[in-house]
Amino acid sequence: MTRKRRNHGKNRKGRGHVRNVRCMNCRRCVPKDKAIKRFQVRNMLDNASIRDVSDQCVYKGYQVPKLFIKIEYCVSCAIHLHIVRVRSVTDRRDRTVKRWRRPGMRDRRPTKPTGNQKQPQKPTTTNATPQQTAPTTTPTTTTNKV
Ligand SMILES: [Zn+2]
Repeated sequence: MTRKRRNHGKNRKGRGHVRNVRCMNCRRCVPKDKAIKRFQVRNMLDNASIRDVSDQCVYKGYQVPKLFIKIEYCVSCAIHLHIVRVRSVTDRRDRTVKRWRRPGMRDRRPTKPTGNQKQPQKPTTTNATPQQTAPTTTPTTTTNKV
């Protein structure tokens, strides 16, 4: 029978059976070697709340602890959440681990703010050019003195 992948999408190196884990998104039973696993480190609070807590905190330099979560997804959820992608027959043979930049989730959000940030930066560069012209005028005054 034809098969999509030589290892059937699993990584069970010589083991007969691998115990199941539950998908974090839909609670589906997935073999542990087949599940798509990601380790997430994120802040317990959002940035605004962290600022509020650190302002009110007695201890100086207190860092709000981070959350270290291991997340396991089933294949369909991982595809749906853009963690992995469907690849063509030739690309499927590539076994190097790639970090997909989530096209729907993260990439669009930073690009919009950076685009807004670049526009204010451009006036600052224009402000910098008069400052650059100002030092050039001072040497001319020195040349006038000499
Ligand atoms: Zn799932």
